Amino acid sequence: MRRILLIATGGTIASTEDGSGLAPTMTGPELARQVPLLDTLCELDFTQPMNIDSTNMRPRDWLEIARCVREAYDDYDGFVILHGTDTMAYTAAALSYLVRGSEKPIVLTGSQQPMANPFTDAKLNIYHSVLYACDEASRDVSVVFGGKVICGTRAHKQRTMSFNAFTSMNFPSLAYIRGNRIVRPAGSPLVEKDGRAPCFSDTLDERVIVLKLTPELPASIFDLLRRDYDAIILETFGIGGIPDHDGSYREAIFDWVDSGRTLVVTTQVPEEGLDLGVYEVGHAYAQKAGILKGDDMSTEALVAKTMWALGQTRDPAEVARLFYEPINCDRTSR
Ligand code: ASP
Repeated sequence: MRRILLIATGGTIASTEDGSGLAPTMTGPELARQVPLLDTLCELDFTQPMNIDSTNMRPRDWLEIARCVREAYDDYDGFVILHGTDTMAYTAAALSYLVRGSEKPIVLTGSQQPMANPFTDAKLNIYHSVLYACDEASRDVSVVFGGKVICGTRAHKQRTMSFNAFTSMNFPSLAYIRGNRIVRPAGSPLVEKDGRAPCFSDTLDERVIVLKLTPELPASIFDLLRRDYDAIILETFGIGGIPDHDGSYREAIFDWVDSGRTLVVTTQVPEEGLDLGVYEVGHAYAQKAGILKGDDMSTEALVAKTMWALGQTRDPAEVARLFYEPINCDRTSR
């Protein structure tokens, strides 16, 4: 029988109400006991590195979860992480970089309604996640939620209430779960496993901020960010528009990268990605050395990948090399 480690971290799934709002209190074993037929799928062990609302999940917690996986890696066939939905997409992306090329599945799930709610989605999400983690063809980091399997670098929380909370950004879902069956779309690659160990990392640079352009946002914001940040993920307009009515953005952005800091350009439009070359208002940045292009990556994955790349090296050329290397299907190469 397959062995799965369930790593419980909190979230709505584990939450109960004591009069001051939902907060996580239930443990991994308590949650698993509520899910019918789980013991027919695998042998389950438990660990609980934290029990928090994922609003409070920080990069140091991502490292702690990665450490749980690393320490137990050889003893299990797969891992299921119970996690709050609000920042699950960030954690799934971060784990994709902290545990690269895992032949064993690392599945994140949670729920929109607490386990204690009679109409909860928690039972099915846990059952589906364990089912998927037990399947021989599953690998790498993914989110299993609402009957869908989404690559860990492509998940995005799209809905605050519905059970289909997550969508897969700019990339097809990896699989669907129908009852007891995992349905993998025709043509989805089944890569042979050769028993190779994954590459683990244990450092991140937390000094990364997302800056969303809004009309009239002054370029002087870059000066304010200098003290506290090593990298900005800039969410531009449309396919890559950056205001150029007075030249201040160009000056601020060129200064930022020329001083050795990292600038990642992406779009605030959720789907289809960036192309700086299309409009004059983006053109100047397309060829500028040191500006990294997010292409069709999700903002969650860009945050995690930038923190990870800067955690490994300070050499801009090496940061760029790590940034552009496709990891867990995070970017579509043009
Ligand atoms: N606030 C909760 C959390 O992210 C929401 C949820 O789990 O659905 O922990």
